[in-house]
Amino acid sequence: MYNIAVLPGDGIGPEVIREGIKVLIRVGEKFGHKFSFQEASIGGHALDTAGKPLPEKTLELCKNSDAVLLGAVGGPQWDNNPPDLKPEKGLLGIRKELGLFANLRPATLYSSLIQASSLKHELLDGVDILVIRELTGGLYFGSPRGFHQKDGEQVAVNTLSYSESEVRRIAKVAFEAARKRKRKVCSVDKANVLETSQLWRRVVTDVGKSYPDVELSHMYVDNCAMQLIRNPKQFDVIVTENMFGDILSDEAAMLTGSIGMLPSASLGGKVGLYEPVHGSAPDIAGQGKANPIAAIASVAMMLKYSFNLEQEAQSISEAIEEALRQGYRTADIFSSDGKLVKTSEMGDLIAKNI
Ligand code: NAD
Repeated sequence: MYNIAVLPGDGIGPEVIREGIKVLIRVGEKFGHKFSFQEASIGGHALDTAGKPLPEKTLELCKNSDAVLLGAVGGPQWDNNPPDLKPEKGLLGIRKELGLFANLRPATLYSSLIQASSLKHELLDGVDILVIRELTGGLYFGSPRGFHQKDGEQVAVNTLSYSESEVRRIAKVAFEAARKRKRKVCSVDKANVLETSQLWRRVVTDVGKSYPDVELSHMYVDNCAMQLIRNPKQFDVIVTENMFGDILSDEAAMLTGSIGMLPSASLGGKVGLYEPVHGSAPDIAGQGKANPIAAIASVAMMLKYSFNLEQEAQSISEAIEEALRQGYRTADIFSSDGKLVKTSEMGDLIAKNI
């Protein structure tokens, strides 16, 4: 029995998570596994029902589960809340509390979706990138932070800080992952300007000495943003700090056609957390337009990384590919020759293909 904590969150979160669970139940039937699901509140939903973005009950449930499946948090109704009462605080909090310092974001191109990308086919054919983003350090967590008055005007401060051990552990994750792929790591920083990046580069180089079979290169973040569009096939594993990883992984997502396709795994502690890369998409929430594939592919990552069920994970990837080959498309990846389906229909089709 695998115990899964389910945190649907806000906006399209509950809609796409429902489809992920549907597919997981089907995998359980097919391969003879039992999954139990316990739901808890996070983000805006938790603010409205419990007064805080990450209630203790939610955290307790997650810590006592085998894995966590999360939708997305946020929405315009909470945008003007004070910093501690923003939905995103719940997300940052759970990552920190579960010790999830490594965020794995694969950007794999499904061949039948090549026309949904804004780039030329020949640039994309065969793109398979794993972005590994440091998740619990850097600007999003550094202190001091906040607003203050200076010389009669408001000033805002955030702090970018990394320790050697923080860089070392994420570098190891990257080199280990590269060993199971094409054995190439590109470490992305801004070492021409930032001291944190200079430390980052030194430590990654040092860790790399223990992996002579993996080719290590370094790239400035502005160049990487350009190279991802110019020649994405040059990359295998990209490892980078929190904010650069946040931005570059969204860019990599667009290579694959839509942000609605991209799953993620956050690892490092006892319990792994799996979530689509996209946000709560308030502009399409409640309309059945959300693409559930990122959430369903996140479930596949859970099977692979938390439960070591490689074959079951593979069956989900193949079921997604098959639904796309059959021409089914949600609105975000729709083109005139496809068959337009709603969120739940896409989930049904993928579950049926398992
Ligand atoms: P977003 O990812 O929610 O949406 C960006 C665009 O992509 C929108 O046009 C949306 O309709 C589209 N989109 C996203 N997911 C989709 C899907 N599965 N299918 C089809 N289309 C999809 O980012 P945003 O608009 O910048 O943020 C909206 C809210 O989500 C904000 O409150 C933000 O803070 C929050 N957010 C949360 C997370 C998270 O929970 N991990 C991540 C990013 C943003």
